[in-house]
This record gives sequence, structure tokens and C-alpha cells, in this order.
Amino acid sequence: MNRPASLPFDTRPTSTRPVDTLITNAHVVVDRDAEYPGGWIALAGGRVAAVGHSHQAPPPAGRTIDAGGRLVTPGLVNTHHHMYQNLTRAYGPAINGSLFDWLTTLYPLWAGLDEENVYLSTYVGIVELLMGGCTTSSDHLYVHPRPGLIDAQVTASTELGFRFMATRGSMTRSVADGGLPPESVVQDHDTIMADAERLVGAHHDPAPGAMTRIALAPCSPFSVSEEIMVSSAEFAEKHDVRLHSHLAEDHDEDTYCLETYGCRPVEYFERVGWASDRAWVAHFIYPSDDEVARLASAGVGAAQCPSSNMMIGQGSMDAMRMRSMGLTVGLGCDGSASTDSASLWMETRNALLLGRLRNGPASMRARDALDMATRGSAACLGWDDEIGHLRPGACADLVVWETHPVALAGALVDPVEAWLRTGPSRAWHTLVAGRVLVEDGEPVAAALPEVLRRHRAAAAAMQNLL
Ligand SMILES: [Zn+2]
Repeated sequence: MNRPASLPFDTRPTSTRPVDTLITNAHVVVDRDAEYPGGWIALAGGRVAAVGHSHQAPPPAGRTIDAGGRLVTPGLVNTHHHMYQNLTRAYGPAINGSLFDWLTTLYPLWAGLDEENVYLSTYVGIVELLMGGCTTSSDHLYVHPRPGLIDAQVTASTELGFRFMATRGSMTRSVADGGLPPESVVQDHDTIMADAERLVGAHHDPAPGAMTRIALAPCSPFSVSEEIMVSSAEFAEKHDVRLHSHLAEDHDEDTYCLETYGCRPVEYFERVGWASDRAWVAHFIYPSDDEVARLASAGVGAAQCPSSNMMIGQGSMDAMRMRSMGLTVGLGCDGSASTDSASLWMETRNALLLGRLRNGPASMRARDALDMATRGSAACLGWDDEIGHLRPGACADLVVWETHPVALAGALVDPVEAWLRTGPSRAWHTLVAGRVLVEDGEPVAAALPEVLRRHRAAAAAMQNLL
């Protein structure tokens, strides 16, 4: 499903057919090898209708936005998140432990998840992503102490008009079975698979231009049974949906897999039938070169989560090197309690900084990081036929970026390098399917003040602060 770009790049003179929205006076990054300095982009019916240079006449439009010389890029795509965790952001008792310490401190709090607080955390999580220039996100919700939580997420994303890939996460292996999570947050195999079947039937839209898709996402090798991994792979094949999990995140995971399964994490991943182009994994920090090559040739994608990796302090993938080995690499912000923030602009910048720190200043440019956040991330989600770029026919998901003139002073030559090397940058306008969801730097979500008030109460209850 990681399809190459197949849409023709239309450079013909534009028609005089009116479009819905025209954005003018912009440096438009259409794709990895196509930029329009001083250009314009026209949107109609939720799609990109045309792109042009300043000397080409744009079509008449119902609404025209003067970008004032700002940078326009495809909307950034988030490949890994746990939005529910914004209910326990920067939670003091958990912040200085290892990954396993951090998880075991927070699992008992997360056992309080219900439809109301999942709806609120998803709503807040999506608005935060929109403000950071993200137009499509996956979310990995793997704690299901009560039913209906993915449905609550879809309600929030639909209300906001966001493009969303919900993943039905799962945990089956509690402490009693040699796993990490407590009994209160795991489910049995049949309950999980029946819910997956129900969710795909209720919400998964495989059609072009879909706003909601469903994928399956057993949490990690140390929290699920081998049986659920095998069943999920078979289910994904049967229903033509995608697969997601954490992989090779931590040295403790190597030890766990060797002791429990008698092999390394990637060997286990292959053994349970996941080495396919349906799968993308989060982190992938500690594979051997041979393991990277094997998963790359199988078409597996990987999500680097730079801020989370640095916050947890246990390494990050060598993204540029893995890309050079043929692996599809996207970016993710990871859960709101490990990174505590969710700006894809910041993840893109941190990917650039990490790459150059690791391999030197000639190893990575801003455009490489942008490519990971757009084309790479969209390919991880199997969605790069119509998101992650702005070629005519693509979904009208884009960002007009705002960087304060003080921060930009003196940056005159290269707007893409300036966008990522100066900053902070944030979305001035974010459009999804042609709809303006952030306008003049502010989210248009009318319910946001009330949602934030309820979210504060829900977070206080979860953290036992009431
Ligand atoms: Zn994660």
C-alpha cells in the first residue's frame, strides 16, 4: 500500500473555472521536488485544483487568502501519538523513570479512561496538532478499560473536520502473564478482535478522500500475546487495513523478547506475520543493519519520534541512514505524556537537529526533514497517493506558516531552511479538505473553551487531585 506518486503534475495553463479557495503570494512547496516561489494554489471540492507561478493567471475564486509572502507546505502528517495521554501531561511522579518505570507508574491512572475523557483528550489533541501544522494523524489508543473509546475519538475528529486514522490498540499480557501492564487495562483476544471487526465496519472508509480510517495496533512485544499479533495480521489482510505497533524501542525489550520468545524483537515481528507493507512501527531505535534491510525490503515503515526519544533519553533511530537503506521513515510526536507536546513543526525541526548531531552538518537539510514529515509519514499510513503533497488532485490539506518577523529578520535566501532553522513557527492557517480549521493562528473550533474546562476537570480526576 506504500504507493508511489501516481498523480500527474499539471503544469497546463489554468482554466477559468471558479475554485472555492485561492491562496496567493506564497512560496508553495508542492512536493519534494516542486516549489513555486511567489506562487499560488487553488482549491476546489476538497482537492488541489491547480498550482501556479505569479506570472500565471489564477482562476476566479470564492475566497482569496493573501499569504503575505509566507511559506505554504503540505499539511504535516503524524504517524504516532497517544492522545489520551494529554490527561496526564508532565505528571511529576513519572517523569524521571525509564520507559518501563514510566509506564508502570501511569498504567493505574490510565485505567480511569472512559468515553468522556477520551473524547476530550482527542479533541484537545487534534486542536493542538492543527496549531502545529498537522492535517492528518494516526492515534494509538491501546488502553481500553471501558468500551466505546475509539468511537469517542471518531466523534471528536469528525466534529473538528480532521483527517484521522484511529488505531484499535490492545494489550493482553498483564503482569500475571509475564507482561508489563496491570490486569485492569488488558483485554482478552476475542473481545479485542470482535471490537476490531465492529470498528472497521462502523468507521473505516477505504474510499479516496476518506476522513476516517481504522488500523489495528497491538501495543508492543511486552504487552500482547503472540496470538493477538498473528490474528491482527490475518485480520488486516482480510479487511485490507493497516497494522501498527511499537518495535525496537528499548534495550529492555530485547531482553524481554529473548527470554520470552527466544528471539530478537524484529525476528519476533517477522515470525508473527507482520513484515509486510501494511505495517508501520514506532521508534525502531535498536535494530541491526540486517534487520533494517529486511523490514525495508518488506515495505514496513517506521515513525521517528524525536522529542519523545530525547525526553526518555534512550536513543533515537538514525533516520537518514535508514532512509538511504530504503526504509520508509515518517515522523510522530508520540504520546502526550512522554513528549508532553504535540507540534509536528517541532518534531520536524528536532528530526533535523538529531540527524545533524548524529551524522554531521552535511547529512541533512530542512527539505529532508519536511519530506519525512509529509511524504514519508503519508507513506507510513499507506495514504501517500493523496496526502503528504499538493499536486493537483491531492487532498486540500495544507498549512500557511507563521514565523514572527523578528525571528525571520535576515533570513532572505531560502524560505524552507528559514522555516525550520528559525522559529518557533506555527500555523497561521491550517486547511483540511479545503476547510480552514486554524485561522490567523487561532483554532476555529467553537467548542474549545468548554472542552478545555471539562478536560481540566477530567485530568484532575485522573491524577487524583480532586
Ligand atoms: Zn508510543
